[in-house]
Amino acid sequence: MDLDFSPEDLKFQAEVRRFLAEAYPAHLREKSERGEAFSKEDILGWQKVLAAKGWAAPSWPVQYGGTSWTPTQKYIWSEEQARADVLSIPPFGLNMLAPVLYTFGSEEQRERFLPDILAGNVWWCQGYSEPGSGSDLASLKTRAERITGDDGKEYYLVNGQKTWTTMAQFADWGFFLVRTDPTAKPQAGISFLLIDMKSPGVTVRPIITLEGGHEVNDVFLDNVKVPVENRVYEENKGWTCAKALLQHERSGIAGVAVSKRQLEKLRGMAATEASDVGGALIDDAFFRRKLAELEIDLTALEFTELRTLAGESSGEGPGPESSILKIKGTEIQQRLTELTLEAAGHYGAPHLLGLPHNAAAIGPVEARGAAGEYFNTRKTSIYGGSNEIQRNIIAKMVLGL
Ligand SMILES: Cc1cc2nc3c(=O)[nH]c(=O)nc-3n(C[C@H](O)[C@H](O)[C@H](O)COP(=O)(O)OP(=O)(O)OC[C@H]3O[C@@H](n4cnc5c(N)ncnc54)[C@H](O)[C@@H]3O)c2cc1C
Repeated sequence: MDLDFSPEDLKFQAEVRRFLAEAYPAHLREKSERGEAFSKEDILGWQKVLAAKGWAAPSWPVQYGGTSWTPTQKYIWSEEQARADVLSIPPFGLNMLAPVLYTFGSEEQRERFLPDILAGNVWWCQGYSEPGSGSDLASLKTRAERITGDDGKEYYLVNGQKTWTTMAQFADWGFFLVRTDPTAKPQAGISFLLIDMKSPGVTVRPIITLEGGHEVNDVFLDNVKVPVENRVYEENKGWTCAKALLQHERSGIAGVAVSKRQLEKLRGMAATEASDVGGALIDDAFFRRKLAELEIDLTALEFTELRTLAGESSGEGPGPESSILKIKGTEIQQRLTELTLEAAGHYGAPHLLGLPHNAAAIGPVEARGAAGEYFNTRKTSIYGGSNEIQRNIIAKMVLGL
């Protein structure tokens, strides 16, 4: 995409590029090259570096530690991070909970939680989905009853099960949707609670996904006592927070800059002559057409994302366009992994056979994780609200159907 960068923007771009080249730890780069997963310490360690620079949360209001970057600067920031192949910080604290806290939280809650989110001191997870309550999230059953503790303080006693909870095995805290009024209309009886994952009664059990990863979990809540002051916004009005958070989540899933970088790598891999078949995949007109179609769709999505960024900087939260970003962004991610696996050819096979990533070290670097990525990326059209549900939202909110 050709954006006319001003001299200031070009200066900013150079500064970002230099910072990422100097500050990103070599051991993290080596881990990526070996196809190894990042640990909690790796991820929070990098976030601490960004926080020290004041760049951990570009979209937050300045008063809470955000930047006053223009939409173009935010665009440059995500482009440069993708270009430098730096790890992505999970969005749960920084991009999902934080906007809820600074929009709906009390002053005490902002002071208590935002600094640790920014500094990368605390890992958050999202406790929304339940068995039987995914798309129909408002039907959730996890119950929170008001009780008075032995210490005379007010608590919620929480009982229920959450599922698909991403990286709950690392989480220090979680934000949970719970039912506080079972007699009200489904959306009207829900509250938004912050729960310390070390509380007695919280159990995290792994779910192993198709490609063999431990990314998601079941979370069981058995008589978990949660202080009432950990409720964000009013009792039974948690649905308002839940919806706002989902719009931030969906905008973030689009991942345009990362897809652009992957497309570039894919093109490089497809252009490599494969000695055993004679010629490069890019010479194949049918493959080239698929690549070109993908690039056109990605460019169109990039413009939509830029419009959303511009809207956000003028004080609007992301609206229903976050659903458009989510659908198109995830479809592109999935097509990218399909073409990458196609380009990897038999070099993608060791992973399919259950061999470790580096067993494929004879092929191109991008081929090593191709099969795992292909399987793992099936998730993107499901999480954050499935793409079918996003189409329903667009029909209602944008088309007025
Ligand atoms: C990898 C992964 C990570 C996740 N991480 C988290 C997390 O951290 N925290 C969390 O709370 N949740 C998380 N989720 C859960 C995710 O939000 C749900 O899986 C999602 O909302 C879909 O719900 P479901 O799985 O219950 O499917 P269902 O709601 O049972 O849907 C099944 C199918 O029916 C379709 N469908 C359902 N209703 C409609 C309708 N009205 N119109 C058209 N089609 C419909 C759906 O699109 C889907 O294809 C994660 C999921 C995955 C796969």
